[in-house]
Amino acid sequence: MSQRLPDKIALITGSSRGIGRAAALAFANEGAALIGVHYTANTDAANATVRDIEALGVKAVAVKADLRHGKEAADSLWAQFSEAARKESGSSVLDILVNNAGIAPALPLKHTSEAAFDEVMTINYKAPFFLIQAVADHIRDNGRIINVSTGFTRIAAPTHPAYAASKGALETLTLALAPGFGARGITVNAVLPGVTETDMNAEWLASPDARAGAEALSVFSRVGRAEDVADVIAFLASNDARWTTGQMIDATGGARI
Ligand code: NAD
Repeated sequence: MSQRLPDKIALITGSSRGIGRAAALAFANEGAALIGVHYTANTDAANATVRDIEALGVKAVAVKADLRHGKEAADSLWAQFSEAARKESGSSVLDILVNNAGIAPALPLKHTSEAAFDEVMTINYKAPFFLIQAVADHIRDNGRIINVSTGFTRIAAPTHPAYAASKGALETLTLALAPGFGARGITVNAVLPGVTETDMNAEWLASPDARAGAEALSVFSRVGRAEDVADVIAFLASNDARWTTGQMIDATGGARI
């Protein structure tokens, strides 16, 4: 089968592990030219992802930025990546941005401090907002912006109200930006994963009861794998999804209330 992302330049936040890493490897398998592996602190994990991408014959660069710093981090991330891209490929354009990095603390309403609220909103909503702003003039015609949300915007999540609402804001942003970018053939979509087996919830899923509950959410009676979500992201990144924009795409395995 022919590759779906030939020559594409992609930047994926939070891609040293989990869903972001799986998306980076999916993009590499689809023939991307250059992939930006953004990470927060674990340089070894980021370098391992870079090596795994390069083993597939695709260039990759690691860029570090702590998204708790909001716009400053988003601007720094783009500055670092565009400089690295210029060195690698002679230009600093971008085809695909995936806003994947996120945190999902289990904080019921009464236990959510203002600091915890601000951190969730900054990493999950404010930083993606300003990263899109930073790349807006550099993303090529027919490019892609993909925001990773959560099925918790569709299924009541009393354990995660601030988290669910931060992703709700990200989805509303997705809808709001699609018309403006559409003039250049650029699509803006969100992917909504269900419970997916990553570091984010490894501790929680270690409990047999929690795992059984999570498995029961999907009509396929299992927990999602990072690759299940990454393949949906890769589809949205491809030309096959050129007629889909402003949409919230389910990747929960059919989870419902
Ligand atoms: P993960 O914890 O493995 O990955 C999260 C990524 O975000 C990591 O790479 C991490 O470094 C990055 N990140 C966290 N804080 C950061 C910060 N301050 N600055 C920069 N980067 C930071 O979890 P994952 O499951 O791969 O999560 C990826 C995305 O999928 C997240 O946005 C998450 O909300 C969403 N999601 C995950 C699940 C799930 O069950 N795993 C379900 C729904 C949505």
